Amino acid sequence: MNALAPRGAQLERTAARHLGRMPRIIASAQDLEEVLHRLAELVAEAIRADAASIRLGGAGGTEVLHVRRPWGEPSASALPTRLTVPLVLRGRRLGMLTALRARRRPFPQTATALLGAFAGPIAMAVDNARLFDALQDRLADVVRLGEASEAIAALGDIGAVGAQLARQAAHLVSAERGVLLLLDADRAELVAQAPAYGVRPAQVRKLRFPLAEGGESARVLESGRPYIANDIPGDRRDVGRRAFGERSVLMVPLRAAAHPVGVLTVSNKRQGLFTRQDARLLAVFAAQAAVALENAMLYQEAVREREQLKELERLKSQFLSLVSHELRTPVTSIKASAEVLLSTAPAGIPEAHLRLLRNIDRSSDRLSALITDLLDLIRLESGRLELQREYLDVRQVAEEAVSTVRPLADRRNQTIQIDLSADTCPVYGDRRRLEQIALNLLMNGVKFAPLGGTIWLQVRRDADRHVRLTVRDEGPGIPAEEQRRVFEPFYRLDTEETRRTTGTGLGLPIASALTELHGGSLHLESAPGQGSTFSMTLPGATCKS
Ligand code: ADP
Repeated sequence: MNALAPRGAQLERTAARHLGRMPRIIASAQDLEEVLHRLAELVAEAIRADAASIRLGGAGGTEVLHVRRPWGEPSASALPTRLTVPLVLRGRRLGMLTALRARRRPFPQTATALLGAFAGPIAMAVDNARLFDALQDRLADVVRLGEASEAIAALGDIGAVGAQLARQAAHLVSAERGVLLLLDADRAELVAQAPAYGVRPAQVRKLRFPLAEGGESARVLESGRPYIANDIPGDRRDVGRRAFGERSVLMVPLRAAAHPVGVLTVSNKRQGLFTRQDARLLAVFAAQAAVALENAMLYQEAVREREQLKELERLKSQFLSLVSHELRTPVTSIKASAEVLLSTAPAGIPEAHLRLLRNIDRSSDRLSALITDLLDLIRLESGRLELQREYLDVRQVAEEAVSTVRPLADRRNQTIQIDLSADTCPVYGDRRRLEQIALNLLMNGVKFAPLGGTIWLQVRRDADRHVRLTVRDEGPGIPAEEQRRVFEPFYRLDTEETRRTTGTGLGLPIASALTELHGGSLHLESAPGQGSTFSMTLPGATCKS
């Protein structure tokens, strides 16, 4: 015992020195494989063996062999002397630690003890490294999942989303194929979406699984639970898998807002098995994918509706412009005929006939104005109205409009108060169109102001070098909830005053669209019983500041 003491002490020191290197080795290794290599190297050094091996699991598990000294033959079986200890952790056998020697002489006892001393810490290190590897895998999964989800969220079109989902799903679990099956609720079947990943489009188009057949995909859809089948024997590659003949399949349900929308299927024809971890990962992906899919479906629906609206809009414009053109010619000739008859009417013509002729003349004027408005509106809505721009003074435009409306105001015994500021900027605009706007506002003022009332017209230079033309009246006013609607085509208030006046409800929408075409805006301020104030604001061109 005494004779062994110094050797025992030396052994302890050697063991302590080598064991002390373990934490650093483990910390600096990249993965489990490298940890095993470095530990085998440490063991071989510590007990001066020619080689050391670590085997994890039973036969078929991982094995690493570190050769410290070449022994002349290429195979480990040429090392006849072996010393093996089990790697055990918390009563669980993880694998074996073996030291090997080329010489046919047993390892000394010290080596046996030393190997035993290494086994415990190595088992612990291996377990830690495994956990670490698993953690790394999960992290990589999370990163891939994040990337995959981001990629699909960025797409809008349903076809592109479907193709991307199939591809990302396959990549996520390293599968050879990915197919997205969407539920066709009307036909009660799951339909494969082309393009799929790793499957020819002609093959994809054949894939339809009626729910009534109760195949795996239908069960996944209904149960909401994933399905894994690994190592499917050739004779059982049937039902949902018939068209593929796969070896392994993983399916997860796609549910949007708790109702089933489809099934995401990944599979391998040649090799590769799916784990429960794959199923969990794909299920998380499917949850996000379902949201992207639903968005894509909504988007598609919106696009379809917009297309329909556009088509309706086009048909409406086509119809209106046809009607307007077809009407214009006869109205012009009716008007011309009435004018000729009126101007050449013989002196003795009965008054009743004259009234009828004047009536024809006035009505054809109104009809012709309506046609003009309709055509304007169509051109404005379709962006086909072009402005003939020039530098002009809005005050002149205002005066022109006043002179046109004055006879009507006089007939109603109304006053038009004009206030034109000396300090305005020129405006780069279409004279005829700006006059049309001013005239419409003034006409409305005259129509709605009481008999004998006043209409105020003001042109001012606004802040930011804008020019503002304002028309105010003391009429009935417009309630707040109607103020947006009076700018919609054909909208007229359902009031006594409006019914008394003639009109079509096209003046304000046209005025507003024309103002906007000039880069300006038309505003209304009004309250019932308080009159109305309409202001057209236009950008000034070259203002002296
Ligand atoms: P129209 O005058 O031909 O009916 P507009 O588009 O110019 O068409 O006006 C739409 C509706 O807005 C009018 O029918 C009327 O009900 C209301 N409105 C317009 N201007 C005034 C105003 N100055 N005072 C009160 N109501 C008005």
